[in-house]
Amino acid sequence: FFHSVSAREMPVYVFFGDVQEDVYYVSDKLREELGLSSNLVHQLFRQAEPFVYEKDRENYKRGLLSVMEERREFYSQRLRFQGMDKRIRWMCCWGIIKWDGDRPLFFSGCMTDLEDEFSADSVTGLLRYPAAVRRLTALSEEKEQATVFGIGLSRFSVINDSLGRMEADRLLRQICAQLRERLYGFELYRMDGVRFLAVCPGQVPDVRISGIIRQCIQECYRKKGIEMKNPCALGMLRCPEDGRSGMELIERVMTSIYYAKRNPEQGVLRFSWDMLEKRQKETEMSLELCRNVRDQFKGFRVVIQPIVEGETGRIKGGEILSRWECRGTAVSPECFIMLMEENKQILAFGKWVFEQAVLACRSFMKERPDFTVSFNVSYLQITDSSFLPFMKETLSRYGVSGKNLILELTETHFDEAPEHLERLVKECRAMGMKLALDDFGKGYSNLQMLLRYPVDLVKLDREIMREIAQSRTSRELVKSIVLACHRADKKVCVEGVETETELGIVKRMKADYVQGYYFYRPLNTQELLTKISGA
Ligand code: C2E
Ligand code: MG
Ligand code: MG
Repeated sequence: FFHSVSAREMPVYVFFGDVQEDVYYVSDKLREELGLSSNLVHQLFRQAEPFVYEKDRENYKRGLLSVMEERREFYSQRLRFQGMDKRIRWMCCWGIIKWDGDRPLFFSGCMTDLEDEFSADSVTGLLRYPAAVRRLTALSEEKEQATVFGIGLSRFSVINDSLGRMEADRLLRQICAQLRERLYGFELYRMDGVRFLAVCPGQVPDVRISGIIRQCIQECYRKKGIEMKNPCALGMLRCPEDGRSGMELIERVMTSIYYAKRNPEQGVLRFSWDMLEKRQKETEMSLELCRNVRDQFKGFRVVIQPIVEGETGRIKGGEILSRWECRGTAVSPECFIMLMEENKQILAFGKWVFEQAVLACRSFMKERPDFTVSFNVSYLQITDSSFLPFMKETLSRYGVSGKNLILELTETHFDEAPEHLERLVKECRAMGMKLALDDFGKGYSNLQMLLRYPVDLVKLDREIMREIAQSRTSRELVKSIVLACHRADKKVCVEGVETETELGIVKRMKADYVQGYYFYRPLNTQELLTKISGA
């Protein structure tokens, strides 16, 4: 394995070793770069220090020291190196440290040469990463004022799938040509994939410029027949105050794109210091999630929140909700589910959740053969071809009928993979399962679309509950949504009912089901079993 990832043709330098003994094994390429006689190296980091470009040497030492002092599990730095050939090159250094309590045991990682890439991008004609680094390094060294925008195109993988690679490349070219024309005085760079940088000397008004960027991209999408409300995520920072070096500036503007992506409605997101801390925490959590998933889902459990009939308050079924503790602290499912969607662990995790739902079904079956268990499915699972066979196999393994299960999906990604979704719906129906549209009314929702969705149940988000409790017009509107759903033969469940007054409103609207703290909070399976058998 080591030789396959550290082959000479690869632009990476790999190492692993024992921190306590301070002995490392390095790839041939790294050995040659450092002018060493053996692949077994004592005090690797001290030996490498003279090769770090002198302006970055302090940074290098500080970076390594803080990793050890703060007992971090991952290490990441961008530094300039000056090898035997005296050429100065930017390198991305990355590693993972395994700890035994306070003791660092193993350290493995690699360095990649960031300047190995061609300097101009063949698709868009824009300069690439290394050129952007050079430009921002010059800006920060001269302490010149500049505004840097980071642009990340939204859902481009979907566009790649639907338009095909060639057409998608053409679209990229058009977007870049448009941006070049409209952003006069800016320098544009293509970073990686579909992330771009626009750099302009001086302080430019960020809201106006981000409006132009957004409009430009939206128009190009529209010409291809793609209508998108938020075609891009926009991050921004200002030089010199937001970073001390070119690399730092780039990393920070990338971080602001990353967070802008989560809330694309809010326009441009300026870099802030708390983002760095948050990112670091999330990266650690993400690693821990990977480990826990691999470790037989250690630290995870599920609870089930009863869903009752609106009229009678009788328990009809329940929704399986996941819980996770990261080193003793509970993390909200919204947070860990999103991280698992990013690191793709959600595929394995979603199967585990399904199995828990089936197990719950099996234990309720004896008491209540009509009890239904709802489970949440993330949009990524829809495109996972092994999910459907897994569901079938699991149902038959435990002798549970699909009739007792309801699959919940949120609407945000309904349009992304229509063929996959269609197939999933068809096959789930064939297994006897019902489908629910979750979180309707959270953010941007569309009534027309709602009625077209092939679902049996619509769950109104708790934001809607808050709204109808406060405003009469919202009540009227939601009442007509309930009516429209009933006409289309869909049942309605209201989430987040907390008080008697709220329940009164919901009843008057003739919603079929209610899920909320007023009746029950999420319970563990045993608690719910006791409640059902007592009822
Ligand atoms: P959701 O599917 O809409 O689940 C309902 C959420 O509303 C749950 O939050 C529940 O505890 C909360 N809730 C129910 N009644 C009330 C109430 O009266 N007041 C308030 N304030 N909250 C109420 P929870 O457990 O924090 O889950 C949040 C979201 O995380 C879920 O929203 C779901 O989208 C996601 N999630 C949870 N477990 C899983 C999972 O196993 N897989 C996937 N893909 N997503 C999951
Ligand atoms: Mg749900
Ligand atoms: Mg919901």
